Amino acid sequence: MRSPVPTRLRLMNKVRAHLDASFLSDAVLALPSVYYIGLCAVCNIRCPYCPRQNFPDEVDNGLMSFEEFKKIIEYLNYAEIVFLFGIGEPFLHPQFFDFVREAKKTGIRTSTNTHGMSLNAENREKIIETGLDEISISFDGADEKVFNFLRAGADFKTVVGNISALQNLKKERGSLTPELQFATVISRHNVRQMPDLVQLSRKLGIKKIVFTNLITLHKENAEVSVAKTDLFADSYEKAKLQGKRLGVEIEYWPQHPFPWKKDPMPEFDPERRIRYACPDLWRLGIIDRTGNLKSCCYYENMSGNVFQTPVPDVFNNDLSRALRRSLLDGRLMECCINCGMLRRASVEIARVELENADAALAEARASGLLADADICLLESEIKKYRTFLKELS
Ligand code: SF4
Repeated sequence: MRSPVPTRLRLMNKVRAHLDASFLSDAVLALPSVYYIGLCAVCNIRCPYCPRQNFPDEVDNGLMSFEEFKKIIEYLNYAEIVFLFGIGEPFLHPQFFDFVREAKKTGIRTSTNTHGMSLNAENREKIIETGLDEISISFDGADEKVFNFLRAGADFKTVVGNISALQNLKKERGSLTPELQFATVISRHNVRQMPDLVQLSRKLGIKKIVFTNLITLHKENAEVSVAKTDLFADSYEKAKLQGKRLGVEIEYWPQHPFPWKKDPMPEFDPERRIRYACPDLWRLGIIDRTGNLKSCCYYENMSGNVFQTPVPDVFNNDLSRALRRSLLDGRLMECCINCGMLRRASVEIARVELENADAALAEARASGLLADADICLLESEIKKYRTFLKELS
């Protein structure tokens, strides 16, 4: 995997990101190290369980302009990776490759997601030419029937052909990029195909599959979900075995399958204070095509608009801090209850992250890219967090 280019700003941000990940403060020292930039909210296929089909009047249909993107580009100098996609097909943005080129100038790792129909000959050339680092292909069926149902409007044979052609072009040009992976949403329709999907990915030279479970947007579709069932567990085990045998990395990203269900909130007990945390709230910048930023995919409210207010101000404003504070105080938001990102903010985590900050500082120092004043500043920040830790333990 190609790492982002180490620079003074990025190395300093990395040290601070470890301090933030200790969850010892609701304020952050670092700028987001991971961005999702929703440059294109337009799509030309009709996946049956996508919000675009289920809430057509509520879903946005527009493009971020390249000029707007330039207003936030400077912040990519601090970050590790940018995912250039939102709720839509990014390759439909007529200036998609300008976004990639501009982002690459900052040395960040670039990634995107596609339904695969856009990987045509012209785009394949541009993908190699721009050096786009990573592409996730939404691939939900191991055969034509299942794939063409779940990705309505896309075509199994065309997508498979496009992937093979891209792999061949990479070889021909001696290019290590883009790294390809499957992003696969599992439901009752395709759960039994998980091991076959691993086999197919191997055949296509794809070395990683990220499985996730379907989020059923309507109660009537609850039956389509197989999250937390034996059927899923069994198929996932088989997929993992297949992955081990074939050298395909398997990851599972659990999501709340029933967002409409009102789960009972855990009782808040001020006496028995439990500190919760979520890495995303302390490190993520999800920016939609109108410039609104938030740090959680599931929480509806935005923290602020980064086309109008600088990212550091939004990322540390009252709203952003209040969300972090509520978790640290043991008060969960409804969307957190079944979320795979939620964890306890323990003293152990804090200790580990402070050690990671020390290691990141040593690495930064060894790079020779930091001035003495930078090192002094980071040392004093680490010291401050050690004091926070002492107070907590
Ligand atoms: S729902 Fe809660 S735990 Fe999950 S990503 Fe959002 S803030 Fe984090």
